[in-house]
Amino acid sequence: MRRPQDIDDIVALVCRDMQRHIGRGRVADYIPALARIDPRQFGIAVALIDGRAAAAGDADTAFSVQSISKVFTLTLALEKLGDGLWKRVGREPSGSAFNSIVQLESERGIPRNPLINAGALVVADALLGEGGPEGAIAAIVGLLRRLAGDARVSIDEEVAASEGETGFRNASLANFLRASGNLRGAVADGLQVYVHQCALSMNCRQLARAGLYLANQGVDPLSGAEVTTPLRARRINAIMMTCGHYDASGDFAFRVGLPGKSGVGGGILAIAPRHGAVAVWSPGLSPQGSSLVGVLALQRLASLTGWSVF
Ligand code: GLU
Repeated sequence: MRRPQDIDDIVALVCRDMQRHIGRGRVADYIPALARIDPRQFGIAVALIDGRAAAAGDADTAFSVQSISKVFTLTLALEKLGDGLWKRVGREPSGSAFNSIVQLESERGIPRNPLINAGALVVADALLGEGGPEGAIAAIVGLLRRLAGDARVSIDEEVAASEGETGFRNASLANFLRASGNLRGAVADGLQVYVHQCALSMNCRQLARAGLYLANQGVDPLSGAEVTTPLRARRINAIMMTCGHYDASGDFAFRVGLPGKSGVGGGILAIAPRHGAVAVWSPGLSPQGSSLVGVLALQRLASLTGWSVF
C-alpha cells in the first residue's frame, strides 16, 4: 500500500480504519452526566507546529476533557510554584488505579505523581490564591482559551455538578491529603477547582491546538507566547509518558510511543515533540479508563507518521 505523505490523507485513513472499532469499550458511568454519552462517536485532530492542521470524524464535537486537564493545571502550578511543587507530589508512575486510596495512605499523603487524582488535587490546591476557587478556575479556563485560540472553550456546569455530587472517592482523597498536611486550602475549595477543570468541554481541534506548546519546547508556535520553559515542557512530556495512562501507561508507551494523557470522557491528548499535537476522542473506555478506540487510532497514526520518542 502507498504510504500516505500528507497529514490530511493520514488522518482520513486513520478515521476510516477506526470505523470497524467504533462503539467498543464502556462509557464512564460512575459520573452520571457522562453515562448518557453515545459511545458510537470518534474524532481526531492533528495540529502541526508549522501551522498546518487536519481533522476527521467527530473532531468538532465538544466532550468532557476530564483528566487531560491535569496536563494544563500542572503547567500552571509549575509556573506558580516552580520546583517547590515536587516537595508535595512525586513523579513516579503509580501502577495503580487513578483514584487509589490505599497508595496515598501507604505513601503518607505525598501522591506518586501529578496525573493521578490525588496528585491533581494537590496541584488544584496549589493554584488557589487570593481569588479562591473561582480565581483558579478562571485562570484555567483563560489558559485553555488562549492555547486553543478559541474563546468558546468553557466549563460544562452540569458535568461539574454531577461529579461534585457523586465524587466520594475524590472527596476521600482530598480529606486524606488535608489530614496529611498536603492541602493548604479548604478541602471543598480544592475539590471545586478539580471538578471544574475536569468538566472543561472542548473538541479535538481545540485540544490539539492547545497542546502544541508541549511539542515546541514550551512556546505556542502559533501565537509565539512562552507558556512554560523548555525544561518544564520536556519534563511535563516525561510525566505524560510515564504516568499519563495510570496503570496502562506502559502499554500506551509500548503501542504508541508518544507522551499522552487520557481522560474518562474518552479523549486522549498525545504529543509528538518537534512535530505537533494530536487529540482523539471516542467515549468507550478500557478498564483503566483510556479510550479504547482512541489508543488504537493513535497507534495507527504513530505507525503511519513514524512519530515516536524512541
Ligand atoms: N474526573 C475524573 C475522576 O476524578 C477524572 C478521571 C480521568 O479522567 O481519568 O474520576
